[in-house]
Amino acid sequence: MTKWVYSFGAGTAEGRADMRNLLGGKGANLAEMSNLGIPVPPGFTITTEVCTYYYDNGNQYPADLVEQVNEALKTVEEGMGAKFGDLTMPLLVSVRSGARASMPGMMDTVLNLGLNDETVEALAKASNDPRFAYDSYRRFIQMYSDVVLGVEHHHFEEILERHKEDRGLNLDTEVTADDWKMLVGQYKDKVAEQLGRPFPQDVQDQLWGAIGAVFGSWMNQRAITYRRLHNIPANWGTAVNVQAMVFGNMGNDCATGVCFTRNPSTGENEFYGEYLVNAQGEDVVAGIRTPQQLTKAAREAQSSDLPSMEECMPEVFAELNAVRHKLEAHYCDMQDMEFTVQKNKLWMLQTRGGKRTVKAALKIAVDMAREGLITRKQAIMRIEPQALDQLLHPTLDPKAKREILARGLPASPGAASGKVVFSAEDAEEWVAKGEKVVLVRIETSPEDIGGMHVAQGILTTRGGMTSHAAVVARGMGRPCVAGAGDIRVDYKAKVLKAAGKEVREGDVITIDGSTGQVMLGEVPTIQPELTGDFATLMEWVDTIRNLRVRTNAETPLDAQTARKFGAEGIGLCRTEHMFFDPQRIISMREMILAGDEKGRRAALAKLLPYQRQDFIDLFEIMQGLPVTVRLLDPPLHEFLPHTEAEMADVARESGIDVATIKARAEQLHESNPMLGHRGCRLGITYPEIYEMQAQAIFEAAVEVSRRTGKTVTPEIMIPLVGTKKELDLLKEAIDRVAEEVFTASKYRLDYLVGTMIELPRAALRAGQIAESAEFFSFGTNDLTQTTFGMSRDDAGSFVEVYRQKGIYENDPFATLDRDGVGELIAIAAERGRQTRPNIKLGICGEHGGDPASIAFCQKVGLDYVSCSPYRVPIARLAAAQAALGAGAESLA
Ligand code: ADP
Ligand code: MG
Ligand code: MG
Repeated sequence: MTKWVYSFGAGTAEGRADMRNLLGGKGANLAEMSNLGIPVPPGFTITTEVCTYYYDNGNQYPADLVEQVNEALKTVEEGMGAKFGDLTMPLLVSVRSGARASMPGMMDTVLNLGLNDETVEALAKASNDPRFAYDSYRRFIQMYSDVVLGVEHHHFEEILERHKEDRGLNLDTEVTADDWKMLVGQYKDKVAEQLGRPFPQDVQDQLWGAIGAVFGSWMNQRAITYRRLHNIPANWGTAVNVQAMVFGNMGNDCATGVCFTRNPSTGENEFYGEYLVNAQGEDVVAGIRTPQQLTKAAREAQSSDLPSMEECMPEVFAELNAVRHKLEAHYCDMQDMEFTVQKNKLWMLQTRGGKRTVKAALKIAVDMAREGLITRKQAIMRIEPQALDQLLHPTLDPKAKREILARGLPASPGAASGKVVFSAEDAEEWVAKGEKVVLVRIETSPEDIGGMHVAQGILTTRGGMTSHAAVVARGMGRPCVAGAGDIRVDYKAKVLKAAGKEVREGDVITIDGSTGQVMLGEVPTIQPELTGDFATLMEWVDTIRNLRVRTNAETPLDAQTARKFGAEGIGLCRTEHMFFDPQRIISMREMILAGDEKGRRAALAKLLPYQRQDFIDLFEIMQGLPVTVRLLDPPLHEFLPHTEAEMADVARESGIDVATIKARAEQLHESNPMLGHRGCRLGITYPEIYEMQAQAIFEAAVEVSRRTGKTVTPEIMIPLVGTKKELDLLKEAIDRVAEEVFTASKYRLDYLVGTMIELPRAALRAGQIAESAEFFSFGTNDLTQTTFGMSRDDAGSFVEVYRQKGIYENDPFATLDRDGVGELIAIAAERGRQTRPNIKLGICGEHGGDPASIAFCQKVGLDYVSCSPYRVPIARLAAAQAALGAGAESLA
């Protein structure tokens, strides 16, 4: 018999934290907290296997599920001294979803289930509090109707708003028992009107309806979108938790709240959270009332006059604080917890690893390692490499002028500027057209995540630090200002008003998620500081990793940036970029247009001093670190003018007539340039080009070595090699030039000549090519193009469809295709090493900065990866994680 249902509560549980695959995150942690003796309302978890079964079997449950649920429910009833559907002491339950990975806001929870026209009376009598009973009933009708029956909540909100207006009431808490009773009647009428059948009165129908809705919601659009954005497989399924209700809405000795064991925004080790007195469930996150601070310190910091929990319920607060310490020490990680206080008794309803900003993640990881709670290795594994990106980018220049429109809560740090849009759909549409947008909403809901994902930043006018917008933005690393209450948003007119100004759709604003400021226009930014926790973690990272990290750079600025980020050399210096400078392109074109070798050499001689200076600059910045220079790679026609007007300009500058230029351009035209006359094929046909480049490299190396005393060891890289013979011919010329330079300058230094492996033939013939090549650098952009036989520039039109149809798991230009391109790399590495055991191996494609691809490089045993400057820290961290075994399982 399969066990489909696991009970928890009252100090014991059938499940454990490490059973999250089966019980979902919420269920596993409810079980764990029960086992730890933390007060958790009793309940049971229906496993994720039931969800999988359900979808595999045409939306049918396993035959013995009902029986197991009834058994577990009986245990809950005994624990609570109440009975489901009972007319004297009715048990109420919540039905809560809980997937393996936390999916905030994705799945809907139903509270107060088990109420009907009769049990509500029983509850009123048993609690001696009719107001509470009817308040719970109206909540239940609204939630159940919305989540299970598909009657949207605005129907009910309108009824309530109208009623409050009639009576001149502000708060829900001011509504009396009799009024709730009357409103319940109107709610039920509304449901009947919308559905053509009455609100279900049978508590078993209610229960199974809710369970079905949770499983159903696993396949709703927003859950599917969330899974797609977070790479969560559909077959994981969700669990369902059925749990006895505890009530935060029974009076002023009751409350409900959300808290974090440390500050999720800064990482500071301080108790952090919000709560509401006499409230239930999602009232805190829904932003209906302004939440109160947990601690006195936080209340003072916010200069709020609403009392903190520490002041208003000191004993329960102390108990909650003890749970905080216990859970954090137990899980060895920052926790995000949900709790309810019923008549001064604390109940924990959820704990999970808390979402945090990267800044907080770094601080928490480093602090916890120092506190001895985790090891340094664990600290390294805690940071997602990609997420570092947020820290490396600019923040608002404190000296820049800011025209402040409004202030909200600093919900997710970082600065963002963009054009204002007022809906998630508009955000997606505008971004698709190439615009940068800031999404402005009164509040966000799970339907908005697509738009939130593409926006530069998110601004809401309602909701607190734990509102949907805040939580999701922090998770995505999007800057967010929440609850900017002084801003008036008019969705219809597409305009926001603040500080006496109007901002229309398309106008630019800037938000600062670190301070909560909202500003008119675009505010300039400054470079980030790379000290503190970041520097500490990076030090630890560097002691663990064995892959070196170099950068792809050709300008001094890029090289300097990369050094600052910890690059250990240049893995790819593309020399063609150096010729586009207005002064040089003239000589370059002269060279291309010259009728013979003599003419070409004359033009190249003019380029030589520029090229030499380029290398001098780079070698100086790199201070003796290795620099790999790739000789000219693109086809020559890329340097020629394209339009008539440009041709006329060139004619004027060079003294060559337009007709000649046109003729030469036509002559050089190729139908498939990617596979045409480029790479070493240029060096073979025009040896003088590579000779000039080699001369510039050696002369620069000699000069810098001599002057600085730090010996430069240049690595000269030949692109697009397919045969050993090509390399041999070119290497011979390079060696000759080296000899000439060394003799002339009376100075010698070591250098390497190697090749890119970017053609399948080169990968297969690597054993032979390694007889001449002293290093290989895998040019995985071209290797991917040539292996798949598709051009990166043209793949856009179909790759997305291929991904949707599951043909490609990832875009192979972003994440290395391990099976195909990866196999070629593995073959080349192995054959290369067989010929030349100490051959240097690196990768210099886009993939050099992609964590999953870096894990592959570690496995194949490459010596280094090379990536763009801003990805260097990401690559360092990913390399350390790869050394610690991350990503290994997916390599199998
Ligand atoms: P989510 O996954 O969206 O956080 P939850 O299942 O945690 O949804 O439910 C949301 C809120 O509902 C909880 O934070 C809690 O305040 C309330 N809640 C859930 N179950 C109970 C319960 N058994 N008793 C009281 N409140 C509950
Ligand atoms: Mg929810
Ligand atoms: Mg929750």
